[in-house]
Amino acid sequence: MEPLQLKQAFKEIFDTEPMLVKSPGRINIIGEHTDYNGGLVMPAAINKAVYVAISKREDSKIHLFSESYQEKYIGNINDVKKSDKAWANYILGVVDGFLKRNLSVAGFNLYIYGDVPLGAGLSSSAAIECATAFALAQLNELSVASMDLALIAQKAEHEFAGVNCGIMDQFASVFGKENYAMMLDCRSLAHEYIPLKLDGYKLVLLNTNVKHSLSDSAYNDRRAQCEQGVAWVKAYHPAVEFLRDVSEEMLLTHVQPKNNETYTKCSFVVAEIERVKKAAKALKEGDLKALGHLMFETHEGLSKAYEVSCKELDFLVDQVKGLDDVLGARMMGGGFGGCTINIVKDEAIEGLIETVSKAYQEQFGLSLSAYVVQTGNGSQTIEPTGIVSTLQHSNF
Ligand code: ADP
Ligand code: MG
Repeated sequence: MEPLQLKQAFKEIFDTEPMLVKSPGRINIIGEHTDYNGGLVMPAAINKAVYVAISKREDSKIHLFSESYQEKYIGNINDVKKSDKAWANYILGVVDGFLKRNLSVAGFNLYIYGDVPLGAGLSSSAAIECATAFALAQLNELSVASMDLALIAQKAEHEFAGVNCGIMDQFASVFGKENYAMMLDCRSLAHEYIPLKLDGYKLVLLNTNVKHSLSDSAYNDRRAQCEQGVAWVKAYHPAVEFLRDVSEEMLLTHVQPKNNETYTKCSFVVAEIERVKKAAKALKEGDLKALGHLMFETHEGLSKAYEVSCKELDFLVDQVKGLDDVLGARMMGGGFGGCTINIVKDEAIEGLIETVSKAYQEQFGLSLSAYVVQTGNGSQTIEPTGIVSTLQHSNF
């Protein structure tokens, strides 16, 4: 849907002029399962987004309409509560976050549309939250720092969607910048824009279209193992707060003798945080080959050591490993399904998607979805004719 159509669709339902906002989905180049360990991640916003058309109402009501679900929700600013419509909750959670911060919000009409595939690990949920947060701030002329918008969005995901996520997704959706990835320190929230020059190559996502139910329990289990590792090290090094502060030597001395399994899990995280730093260096030097190599290493670690991959993800990575046209590939996201992210030579993309889709279908009887993604800018207002104003961040 073009912005002009979005505006038209809004006017047909609400019979008034809207303001238009967009907020993108995201990929993560490298740095998996490092966020909850106070570590580093390297997300980038993509050219798929959630679009919101919004206008103020005279009353205190909240009128929402979802294009994807063809559903309406009606609520009230004075009584914001969870709904049984999952899509509405992401929006309501953000409204609640504004009110809890004493940021006064008027009643509003909101139409939502998006082209971020749902549940594919591209964080369509963060895109909705951030689009809503940005739209509410603009509509009510509230000056809220960009990081606070991301934090309000994250809180909405915790409290209204029940997903205890880190800050990466919302951060990337708000702060993204075309042609850049961002190295984010999940502890201090300090971040650095890293040029993502892919000359002759593109990022290709291959979606397994599976989500194994193991995902939630394994996630909790891994978090517990990381915390256990930290506790054992902390007994000897009191300043240690997260695995971020721990070295491989400390793990060998204090964790491995106690429990080899816990050691293996913690060791993956410690190595992964180092890989993010190496990846930033590789990108700054324009060394895509080195970046690709690190991505393969990450996959190996997630699959063999951290054990959060699955046969479908492993199959997709194995299919492209060793091909000259693919510099790197790995599973992306928490695991047990979702997409792999691949760096593929331009001319080879079409053929690769065809070959791998066929092999995947033969192996699992499942169809593969493929997305060629480009980086994009973060939350911004748009005009029906195009983009007029992007968010101005103080640090660039
Ligand atoms: P992910 O964030 O990986 O895409 P989630 O399960 O966290 O997956 O979020 C997906 C949910 O977000 C959907 O089930 C839906 O409720 C909501 N959602 C995402 N995009 C849209 C959209 N364009 N319109 C309405 N709801 C959406
Ligand atoms: Mg999500």
